[in-house]
Amino acid sequence: MYRLNDKIKNLVPYEPISGTYAIRLDANECPDNLPDDVRAQLCERLKEIDFNRYPDPLATRLVGSFAEYYGVDPSFVTAGNGSDELIFLIESAFLEKGDKMLVVSPDFSMYRFYSSICEVECETFYKDEDLEIDVDALIAKINAENIKLVLFSNPCNPTGKGITRSEAEKLVGSVDALVILDEAYMDFWTESVLDRIAEFSNLIIFRTASKLVGSAALRLGFAVANPTITRAIQAVKSPYNVNSVSQAFGEIIFRQKDYLKNRQKTIVRNKELLYNGLVRIAEAQDGVTVYSSVANFVFVKTGCSRQIWEFLKDRSIVVRLMGENLRITAGTEAEVNAVLDALNEFFEVTR
Ligand code: PMP
Repeated sequence: MYRLNDKIKNLVPYEPISGTYAIRLDANECPDNLPDDVRAQLCERLKEIDFNRYPDPLATRLVGSFAEYYGVDPSFVTAGNGSDELIFLIESAFLEKGDKMLVVSPDFSMYRFYSSICEVECETFYKDEDLEIDVDALIAKINAENIKLVLFSNPCNPTGKGITRSEAEKLVGSVDALVILDEAYMDFWTESVLDRIAEFSNLIIFRTASKLVGSAALRLGFAVANPTITRAIQAVKSPYNVNSVSQAFGEIIFRQKDYLKNRQKTIVRNKELLYNGLVRIAEAQDGVTVYSSVANFVFVKTGCSRQIWEFLKDRSIVVRLMGENLRITAGTEAEVNAVLDALNEFFEVTR
């Protein structure tokens, strides 16, 4: 009789929240679908796809469009089936048995999850009480513990905080470990180190089309690194990892520069609206802490997060419950006002 091994026998498949809700503020997605004129271009492009052929293994046209949008050299870019694929791929390929990697806490849980599948040791660096990273202490730990790979999100999911560009450069320049900065939310902030990528032998930056670019459905992630690392990533990835439809659509979407710029402004404005509304609630309510955010969501600590989560869900609004915390995505202006109204109602009811 076949038995599953210990590392997988108790795992359960990832289950996003089920059901239909009027307002979805739980997954840090872009609140709006792509506009009609862009979708019309995608429909036209669909007609040109050779469905009988395998996709371009290097996603050349997609990578070209991505690289132009971000002002990077296309020879530094690898496309993935979402950043999720790239996280798993790079952890499994760039680490050997016995190597140690490091994650920070709190952070995106998939980094550690994949390390357990890869059977590598995973150390943890804890953020301070304000959820900030002490970069000097992080550097010291990486060097003292002979860490081979360090991976964290900047800005951070779930805290919404980030380290500055100069702190990131200091970190990468002070360690021999491979540093992966997951800049999934950097489209909402200004501290990217993408333009410094050529200067470091030990840096990979992840970007995604799932957040600002509003294309989570296409599953498009990108690893940006120097040519030595890029060649290695391309050698270990599965040959046809990004399907032809996503390649073709992504190529068009990254060309919508004005549209993406305007949407960035709107989302940041709605994040500020959400943050300011939450701060007003926290001022009137003991035990509620709201963390400043440079991403498209706000992290809140309360003594009653589960009750709030249930209360919102009963009103067809879903946010992310994380232990005693809530992570609330900045939706449209109307969605942000709706969640703030519901929260005000909750605290009036329970006061
Ligand atoms: N990195 C971070 C920090 C994320 O929050 C997410 C999605 N929630 C991902 C990566 C995954 O992105 P993708 O959709 O490109 O797989």
